[in-house]
Amino acid sequence: MNTSKKHIYLDYNASAPLHPDAWAVMEALLTTPENGAHNASAIHHFGREGQKTIEAARKHIADMVGIPSNQIIFNSGATEGNNTVLQHFAHAYPDEQIIISAIEHPSITDALPNFPNLKTAPVTHDGLICLKSLENLLKTKTSLVSCMHVNNETGSIQNVSELSGVAHKYGALFHCDATQSAGRIPVHATQSGIDFLTLSSHKIGGPQGVGALALGICGQTPTLLLGGGQEKYARAGTHNVAGIAGFGAAANAATRNLDLYRKTLEQLRNKLETQLKHISPNIIIHGEQSQRVANTCFFSLPKTKSQNLLIALDLEGISVSNGSACSSGTVKASKILLAMGQDEDVANSALRISMGWATKESDIDSFLSAWQKIIQRIQPCQK
Ligand code: PMP
Repeated sequence: MNTSKKHIYLDYNASAPLHPDAWAVMEALLTTPENGAHNASAIHHFGREGQKTIEAARKHIADMVGIPSNQIIFNSGATEGNNTVLQHFAHAYPDEQIIISAIEHPSITDALPNFPNLKTAPVTHDGLICLKSLENLLKTKTSLVSCMHVNNETGSIQNVSELSGVAHKYGALFHCDATQSAGRIPVHATQSGIDFLTLSSHKIGGPQGVGALALGICGQTPTLLLGGGQEKYARAGTHNVAGIAGFGAAANAATRNLDLYRKTLEQLRNKLETQLKHISPNIIIHGEQSQRVANTCFFSLPKTKSQNLLIALDLEGISVSNGSACSSGTVKASKILLAMGQDEDVANSALRISMGWATKESDIDSFLSAWQKIIQRIQPCQK
């Protein structure tokens, strides 16, 4: 008898559950008589089958982000994609600046620990990159500007066409980490003037450990891993054929359902935020006035440690996050909120609810009744 309590998952921005379409193609590949032994570089039958699978996935991913298929390079995920681009520019143009925004993921902020010319463009109170400051920084020779499309904590959307336009005006190329936007809002990489676009499979229902770097028309191919001719020598290493197929299927499902995803999740988030404010009127919803991706709600309950809220919710069977990367298993103050000018208390009391393809209204209802219970318990301490 299974006595385990049902847990509700509301942490899609960290990693989304595998989409059934991704599962189906991966299962089919991994349960063939040869159990997925598709070395896609081999010229024999199984190799050619593997290559066909990869090319079909490449097309789905290219379509999702508005770029020709031959400009997609598969890799192990967004951390690799971001490191590949930043390290390439730091090595190729050591005397020029690289500018990043103040709200980037650690795979950007920490990718160049010893590079003296890394500069940071600040963000406004709403989490939008300050164009004036960016332009000021660009007056010193810059090889690359790197700004994310959607922030992983707040869900705020940047105007990437405008940002790439400013970078190009000063002769810099433009990289965009689209890990949290692709498959959630329309992404038009070519149209938006993006020279390098980072993608990750597991945020949209593909498997973990797979991603892609999309190249614009600037003619440069940043390369991190050498030692093999895969991906036209742009990324060495045997292809993860089943993983890539799963990524392609998840991208295809996301593209097909983009509108429905937005409408459904917007309704759920509206309900969630209305009720949250009703139950706990002192909460602050971050980025509420800016354009946000529909699946994310990031809020603070001042004077309460997010770690305590996370544990209390977990005991009620609800899995959410405090937003800031707890890759080491520790909960820290949100650097994003500090960059947006919030104080330590607000940055220490933040919770992120992120939804996705399998989220149901009943999940939000369960969260809200758990939240009500917790607030009733801690209310005296708040006064
Ligand atoms: N960039 C952003 C904005 C992210 O949210 C994440 C995942 N937390 C990454 C990069 C790293 O992605 P991956 O797990 O594919 O390496």
